Amino acid sequence: MSMLDARLEIIHAIDATRVGYSLEEDAAHGLVAAWMEAAGLEVTVDEAKNTIGRRGDANVWIGSHLDSVPNGGKYDGVLGVLAGIEIAERTDLPLAVVAFREEERGCVGSEAAVAAGGLPEAYFELHIEQGPVLDTLDKPFGIVTTIVGQARGEVVFEGAAGHAGTTPMAARKDALVDAAAFVLRVAEAPKGDAVATVGNLVVDPGAGNVIPERVTLTVDARASTPEALDELVATIGFEPTWRTQPVPMSGAPLEALRAAAPGAPELVSGAGHDAASLAAAGVPSAMLFVRSRNGGISHHPDEFSSEDDIAAALEVLIDAVARIS
Ligand SMILES: [Zn+2]
Repeated sequence: MSMLDARLEIIHAIDATRVGYSLEEDAAHGLVAAWMEAAGLEVTVDEAKNTIGRRGDANVWIGSHLDSVPNGGKYDGVLGVLAGIEIAERTDLPLAVVAFREEERGCVGSEAAVAAGGLPEAYFELHIEQGPVLDTLDKPFGIVTTIVGQARGEVVFEGAAGHAGTTPMAARKDALVDAAAFVLRVAEAPKGDAVATVGNLVVDPGAGNVIPERVTLTVDARASTPEALDELVATIGFEPTWRTQPVPMSGAPLEALRAAAPGAPELVSGAGHDAASLAAAGVPSAMLFVRSRNGGISHHPDEFSSEDDIAAALEVLIDAVARIS
């Protein structure tokens, strides 16, 4: 077992549930701070409790997060932080390794770091794909071009409650029948790499023998350009109450990854990441995805990426960091 894999096990063994700012997340940051120090980095903790290990000018940051979803997997976030530490150990490049707090509930730590200022000239994040694209392509890693924008909102359908036995079909106004047609429309709306999901649906009054009077459902729509997201929202027909813009990866770190891995597949990230916080703040940022096995499952104990794939991605990341440090 490699050092990196052993450390993945050690962090996971703290607890598979490491919610932001919990004792479990604290413990992960404590371990990582010690490994950073052992790698010769100068460790500080900022106001948001992000852990940062610096060497030299540290104009290039390599980072990710250590918190997890409830009962999460071994690789999500942790891999990117440990990869940074390994690069610090294997090279004497000037760099900083950053472990951000509470990514899973809205990139709290990286947003705080952005607000605090003092940002680097480049940011790299190694992360598992958390999807099946690279596995389908049979490629160990891929370069992220854009982190998608998201639009979320609720839609309410009004009907009329009535007796499920005595109201003739022609006389009904069933809110759930209307909502069901809408759900099918949401599934058909996305084009290209866009996606849309109805993930929650509440039926009132919610009794088996009463015609549904009201249905409240959620819509989550994601696309890789602002225009595509606008079009998707318009096609579905809902008013987003929360929206983020797509964030392109760019500049020297992206070009360094492309130079270090010529011909590597390029893909869009459908999930949010700390890299989006830094990129949106104007820091040229790049992400390298490692293939997720087991059908790309993530946020789940079955999350898995192989030691070989991780090792190959790490070589690319070291090469890319060296090109711009
Ligand atoms: Zn993550």
